[in-house]
Amino acid sequence: MSKILFKRTKILATIGPAVSSEEQVRELIMEGVNGCRLNFSHGDNETRDKHIEWIRKAAQEKGRSVAIVQDLQGPKIRLGLVKDNHYDIAEGDEIILDASIKEQEQDGILPVQYNLAQKVKIGEPIYMFDGKIRTHVAEIVSDTAIKVVAENKGFVMNNKGLNLPETDFGGDILTPKDLADIEFGATRDFDYVALSFIQRADDIHKLREILRSHNSDAKIIAKIETKKAVESDEALEEIVKASDAIMVARGDMAVEAGAEIVPIIQRKLVTMCREHSKVCIVATQTMGSMVDNPEPTRAEVSDVANAVIQGADVVMLSDETAVGKYPLETVRAMKKVILYTQNNSTIQPIPYDPQSDNRKYDAITKAAARMAETIDADVIICQTASGATANAMAAQRPNLPIISVTGDVRVANQLSLAYANSAFVRPYSEDFGLELAKELKDSGYLQVPKGKKELVAVIVAGNRDFCGTDTIKVRQI
Ligand code: PEP
Repeated sequence: MSKILFKRTKILATIGPAVSSEEQVRELIMEGVNGCRLNFSHGDNETRDKHIEWIRKAAQEKGRSVAIVQDLQGPKIRLGLVKDNHYDIAEGDEIILDASIKEQEQDGILPVQYNLAQKVKIGEPIYMFDGKIRTHVAEIVSDTAIKVVAENKGFVMNNKGLNLPETDFGGDILTPKDLADIEFGATRDFDYVALSFIQRADDIHKLREILRSHNSDAKIIAKIETKKAVESDEALEEIVKASDAIMVARGDMAVEAGAEIVPIIQRKLVTMCREHSKVCIVATQTMGSMVDNPEPTRAEVSDVANAVIQGADVVMLSDETAVGKYPLETVRAMKKVILYTQNNSTIQPIPYDPQSDNRKYDAITKAAARMAETIDADVIICQTASGATANAMAAQRPNLPIISVTGDVRVANQLSLAYANSAFVRPYSEDFGLELAKELKDSGYLQVPKGKKELVAVIVAGNRDFCGTDTIKVRQI
């Protein structure tokens, strides 16, 4: 096993008020954050612009690519403003949810930020406040209002989210806010756009068309969190194929479809993503207790380690870095778990599938991974234009660092979330992979392991038209 210490599973950290200065963002990146997520459910564009500038500055200072993710709110339906920010609900209460008001004026009528009257059907469940209040639809009261009946007691507060696990949005999941955010994002430096609450592959196709119409070259992350998306393996696989990356959004998935299904869906998604060379991000509550505590729980350590053992490309931090008391300590703790786990476990290879759409890439990258292991190579180098060769190489989950080299800054940033990839931008040449490896050895970034005289590199490249990837070379550096 290689002695070169790289995190092969990456860290995506949500940027929020807990890291609201240039120095704090810099510290996170220096500590090992590979990607930053800006959550468009909160905050304003002025702050986002500052965050983008700080992230790019820190990445440049570190000399490493960092991905920036624009996370769109999607149809996350929220209540409006509730009287005194607290409204008690008793079992059996009838409540009107009305989209024509913004603030609660009287008992029994709550404002809601989306017109549900045209989407829901009688009897469908609606959960409020992360599933704490369960209700069902009793009546469509008007063009803008519906009546629900509470099934348990509790309370709600301002802007709390609703989940509608049985409601089919019929392909209409991008809200006016999302469309405005996409337009803003297309003029900014985002590497990925994540879409919340997708229900089917078509939602991704639509988003791709819209991004194209804005000349955006951002890749798409499908957040898997609705009951509809996980309804069948076939539907799930169609979504994986349509997307560039998948986020296992365990928070809302647990509310919508039941917490017990989350670990199995996570395992399925990691495997499907590898089969289709897509990036898989395991998200939510990975280190949740570190919002308030300087140490993770044993269960959290185990959760992150299991994601690494399964072969997730990325583990994500949400509240821990966005609003937590210990953002830096959390990244440090997560990195420690990733490094220990990857260096003491191996990931099983996925069998070659001669029917797969990806079979040509797979045949070459699988051979390269096997060869690297057999000849005791220290590093795999990928010369990649679009990132496809590097993603296909990552899908093999070699127990080695992958150094990717591309002429395109956007591709390098995107690859910073791909398993084991460290991506660099250099002007294209026939041998720019080998040249980069020499440069990285000279700079000390790549070190010859003890007991060896040279670094052994397997170089994978695409120069002709076979499938984009057609060359494997072995070089001593
Ligand atoms: C989730 O629900 O797990 C998730 C990642 O979504 P968000 O944080 O945007 O609610």
